[in-house]
Amino acid sequence: MSKDKVIIIGAGLCGLYTAYLLQQKGFEVLVLEANDRIGGRIKTVTASTGVTVEMGATWFGNQHHNLLTLVHEFNIPYFRQHTQGISLFETMSFVPPQKFEISEAEEPSFRIEGGTKVLIEQLISKVGIEHIKTQTKVTSIKEQGNQLVVTDTNGNSYFADKVISTVPPNLGINTITFEPNLPDNLVQVAQKTHTWMGESIKFAVAYTTPFWREQNYSGTLFSQASIIQEMYDHTSFDHNGFALKGFLNAGTSVLSKEERQQKVITQLTTFFGPEAAHYVSYNEKVWREESLTFHPYDQLVLAHQNNGHMVFQKPLLNGKLYLSGSETALQHPGYMDGAVAAAKTISSQF
Ligand SMILES: Cc1cc2nc3c(=O)[nH]c(=O)nc-3n(C[C@H](O)[C@H](O)[C@H](O)COP(=O)(O)OP(=O)(O)OC[C@H]3O[C@@H](n4cnc5c(N)ncnc54)[C@H](O)[C@@H]3O)c2cc1C
Repeated sequence: MSKDKVIIIGAGLCGLYTAYLLQQKGFEVLVLEANDRIGGRIKTVTASTGVTVEMGATWFGNQHHNLLTLVHEFNIPYFRQHTQGISLFETMSFVPPQKFEISEAEEPSFRIEGGTKVLIEQLISKVGIEHIKTQTKVTSIKEQGNQLVVTDTNGNSYFADKVISTVPPNLGINTITFEPNLPDNLVQVAQKTHTWMGESIKFAVAYTTPFWREQNYSGTLFSQASIIQEMYDHTSFDHNGFALKGFLNAGTSVLSKEERQQKVITQLTTFFGPEAAHYVSYNEKVWREESLTFHPYDQLVLAHQNNGHMVFQKPLLNGKLYLSGSETALQHPGYMDGAVAAAKTISSQF
């Protein structure tokens, strides 16, 4: 008997890993991705100095067993986030920041050597690029007899025995139509399911030297008063590329890129001195503007709200449709670990 034909919507970490696991079981899999880029919320870019900077997912820890198992299985090397030296905490703009040191005993966080994109590249090569169709935005999923018909914005239709959507639930429920309608309670929960980091602004400033390390600063900075809210040293694992990278105040999404850039450099110069003004490049990503990740909520939704909710654990449309993706995971939902966990949970049901 031939195995089910499976369509996976979304070529982020969850979609790609689900495809890999199902292929291992002998299923015929097609991944449909709306973007011209593969990776979803994993987005590593190379700045002009050659240093790779993360505009999306970056860190993981020893608690992230699902991700660590995958990283070890694929022999992907990783290294510890640099935190040694003086870190800064700014409570108010009119008083100098407090200085503190992060204990060596603190639970470490890790980064993948060469950038998080290495994980995506490995998955693409294992799944096979011929099984991933980019620039294919799914708009509807309809039940037709024992099958599901998936339609995209190009007017193409795809038939599958099973469909797994890895689109963040709030985005999926608002941008894909389902026939017959999905249960009301599921729709309501999905609309109140937070998409992790969907509102965030990531930035990175590349330098030719790690001048902050030379002044015994760690590069770690937390601020309640300025545009940069959280920042870390982003030196590459081989010490060939240097950058500072972190998150900006999400409210500054109303500013232009140039305005944000200028405020960032002013803040860095205030804290680390004039050398901070001699940067090579500035990169940023306003995730709120990424319509393939973020969809506005029609009410207040708190961070991680409804992540891992029980409504996502059961298949729909007579067992043919699965809602997956990191936000549906029972372990570390919202994080890369959750994306891997969700892939394992769904594929184990096949
Ligand atoms: C700024 C930022 C920082 C982060 N930092 C960390 C971190 O340090 N550590 C960590 O563990 N996690 C972090 N995360 C979270 C992590 O990126 C996610 O948990 C993980 O990448 C989610 O993978 P996913 O496959 O479930 O979803 P996604 O990566 O969102 O993939 C969904 C895919 O579906 C596609 N898509 C959307 N709509 C359609 C459609 N209609 N048709 C077809 N395709 C569609 C999208 O283009 C996307 O490729 C961060 C996220 C962001 C944005």
